[in-house]
Amino acid sequence: MKRTYIDMNDIRFLLFEVHGIEELTRHPRFAHVGGREEIELLLQTARDIADREMFPFYKEMDSQPVVYRDGGVRTHPQLRNIFRAVADAGWFAATTDFEDGGIQLPYTLFSTAHMIFEAANNSAQGYLGVSTGAIDLITTFGSEELKKTFVPPMMEGRWQGTMALTEPQAGSSLSDIRSTARPTPDGAFHISGQKIFISAGEHEACDNFIHLTLARIEGAPAGTKGISLFLIPKFLPSAEGDLVYNHVECVADFQKMGQRGYATTHLVFGETGPTVGYLVGEAHRGLACMFQMMNAARIAVGQTAAAIASAAYHYSLNYARERPQGRHILEKDPLKPQIPIIRHADIRRMLLAQKCFIEGSFSLVTECLKLVDLEKISEGEDQRRARLLLELLTPIVKTYPSEEGIRSVSQALQIFGGYGYTMDFDAQQYYRDIRIMAIYEGTTGIQSLDLLGRKVGMESGKALEYLAREISKVVEAAAQYEDLLPYAHRLQSAVSIWQSVLSHLQGFAGRGQLDRYLADANLFLELSSLVVMGWQWLKMGVTASGQWTGGRSLPTAFYQGKLQSMRYFFKYELPRIHS
Ligand SMILES: Cc1cc2nc3c(=O)[nH]c(=O)nc-3n(C[C@H](O)[C@H](O)[C@H](O)COP(=O)(O)OP(=O)(O)OC[C@H]3O[C@@H](n4cnc5c(N)ncnc54)[C@H](O)[C@@H]3O)c2cc1C
Repeated sequence: MKRTYIDMNDIRFLLFEVHGIEELTRHPRFAHVGGREEIELLLQTARDIADREMFPFYKEMDSQPVVYRDGGVRTHPQLRNIFRAVADAGWFAATTDFEDGGIQLPYTLFSTAHMIFEAANNSAQGYLGVSTGAIDLITTFGSEELKKTFVPPMMEGRWQGTMALTEPQAGSSLSDIRSTARPTPDGAFHISGQKIFISAGEHEACDNFIHLTLARIEGAPAGTKGISLFLIPKFLPSAEGDLVYNHVECVADFQKMGQRGYATTHLVFGETGPTVGYLVGEAHRGLACMFQMMNAARIAVGQTAAAIASAAYHYSLNYARERPQGRHILEKDPLKPQIPIIRHADIRRMLLAQKCFIEGSFSLVTECLKLVDLEKISEGEDQRRARLLLELLTPIVKTYPSEEGIRSVSQALQIFGGYGYTMDFDAQQYYRDIRIMAIYEGTTGIQSLDLLGRKVGMESGKALEYLAREISKVVEAAAQYEDLLPYAHRLQSAVSIWQSVLSHLQGFAGRGQLDRYLADANLFLELSSLVVMGWQWLKMGVTASGQWTGGRSLPTAFYQGKLQSMRYFFKYELPRIHS
């Protein structure tokens, strides 16, 4: 059986050695999880589902894509089996508290399992991820009644949750949302309007669809301050246990260049009859609530991009080992057999570039996942630190893996030569699939404005201060190793450049020239990403060096490879900050 293209040793290294998941599992909230052995077992269940139920259908879900036919969305039959397997293993209930019927796992662990699903079949994983996000949102902000009615069938994988924000005139600009909610005497609302591009908005693997929807209560103020969050089921559960149609029409499925196994729907509310919606959280505070799901989804997008790139990397690595072509550059004898292309320097360069990008991205993702948990379990200054760091890193963890992932998968495709461009090989599918990552959940342009326009100045620059402190800690640790010292210096000098660019830009903001301040926000995000990745790479370098000299748990070659990738980052990638 062909297995999901992901290196479990990378996951072990990040969870147990670099980011110390034990810090979480020692906390009373997560103490039931157990130690390394139990965590490995849990991840193995995810790996088994990925290998058996998802990966073998990756290509087929693309060649037999989602279609809108006979008034409904038609999906691949395997989707049902995937929902069953994931629900039976408890992954839909993974992060929910015990008191709400969940398993209360650390978010870090849950999301790492999803990373394995994403590497196996990112279209299939999309349905699962959005449903879990919806469960989290309802359990955090919903009334007891809503939780009791809607969460259990979602945790059993029978009902699908979605996030319904986008409208034709309100994509990046959510303040322009027009869907409306009219109060009804029983405390509910009648919703009217339309939502486009709604992922998993309808398919054949679930019986009901629970749309977490942004809309305006009639008479609400304009802009983001007038937006509320509603739970809108496609079918209303009656007291007798029947499902009654709630006039949520799915009128189309968008045909896309990638993620063709993942439904992207057009929904209409209140057109053929009244559509009932229930308020979640306080009126007019909907966007603030929705940000919980959006922030989680932003990390998940970065993670998916890294996972797709990982799959493409391993796929291209296998090919490079098997494909004979040409001879060594110094070999002039045409009668000598051809060598596998992995022995050509340019192929090795492309493989190393991918490895460096993927491992760095996975590390940043794991850093952010742990911050999600730390924010939940810590208090006081520690909690503030976790919250602000996470806010600051979110646009970066969404964007760096997405943008650089496109570059990385392009290198994977290049390794296949002409075959990479054909439909017979999967390289083109990874390339098509990864392209959306820089677009949904806030485009790169929007993430850049978020970073420079909001995050760096947040709470008088406190988030930046925390980040600078984290980087200094790693630089100091690296200084203990002679081999790492030059890289510690390079990172320190990159931080200085970054800080001077920021203070130069802030001069424009200080003079009221906000447009000029933000004009190159995209480049500032790129610069910030390289500094942040330098931090992650040095952290991995310190860990790999420490393990090497101490009690290593992974093969020596693994740590050597890690240090080699680190050197590649510092020599070939970090210097891009100078432009
Ligand atoms: C496959 C797919 C799945 C999706 N899933 C969901 C989902 O489940 N739920 C959901 O609600 N939505 C979903 N979306 C919608 C997605 O989030 C939006 O497409 C995205 O936010 C961009 O909005 P838009 O398409 O209207 O583009 P626009 O907002 O029109 O943007 C067009 C371009 O203009 C730039 N731009 C826009 N405003 C500014 C600005 N102020 N400053 C600088 N540049 C700007 C953008 O960066 C972009 O390059 C999905 C989309 C796709 C394609």
